[in-house]
Amino acid sequence: MPARSLLADLTWYDFVDCVKSDPIIILPVGSVEQHGPHLPLSTDTLLPQALAEAVAERMGGLVAPPIAYGYKSQPKTGGGNHFPGTVSLDGEVLVGLVRNVINELARHGLRKIVLFDGHMENQWFLVEAADLSLRDQKMFRNTDLRIVKLGYWDFISKTTEELLFPDGSPSWELEHAAVMETSLMLHIRPDLVRRELIPNDPPAKFPPFDIYPFDTRPIPATGVLSPAASASAEKGAAVWTQVVADITEALSKAFDKQTSNV
Ligand SMILES: [Zn+2]
Repeated sequence: MPARSLLADLTWYDFVDCVKSDPIIILPVGSVEQHGPHLPLSTDTLLPQALAEAVAERMGGLVAPPIAYGYKSQPKTGGGNHFPGTVSLDGEVLVGLVRNVINELARHGLRKIVLFDGHMENQWFLVEAADLSLRDQKMFRNTDLRIVKLGYWDFISKTTEELLFPDGSPSWELEHAAVMETSLMLHIRPDLVRRELIPNDPPAKFPPFDIYPFDTRPIPATGVLSPAASASAEKGAAVWTQVVADITEALSKAFDKQTSNV
């Protein structure tokens, strides 16, 4: 068995052995989305993939090949779908894709599935995919399936938040390509971060409604929604350590029949 529990690296014989231990399997779901002048388009896929691998290693779990495309970038959370290089899916395509993958994993006997989101815009489509898969499985009389859906940013503790933002709490929605994501990328893939181009513009200001087509005027030209200059690899390491530990603990509890009420 390879040291890293990547589903795609297993042989089918390895896979059969692995399924016998009733492992969790994590499906990272990201996006191809602009992340300012300093981070790659794959940021929202690289981060959940790396975090999922760390969590899976601690739990003896598997990581499925990630879904590298996500739902359309929105101005208030990702800058908007009009930025060059942002390649997005229609909602129904994302729902169908995730539903299909869940049903396939369940068909092979996996019962503990984690939808590990790296792109805020995906969240309700993942909920819909989970709901429809559970309905599909019920029709196949498979009632054993459990699905956890999470966004890793929701695990950042108050203490870590204070370390990231010593001058006060951020708006998490506006943290696109800003301190948290830039710090994590400096920790896991510093080779992909253009440090000299990290912007430090003030937070974007949006009206309390959405208009379509987008009004692009409030969207910062860089695509970065909050100042990012205070990002650092040290902050990234702190987020990484805390979030990996807490997600591991949460998933152990969620899939433990004794403590889970799902
Ligand atoms: Zn992002």
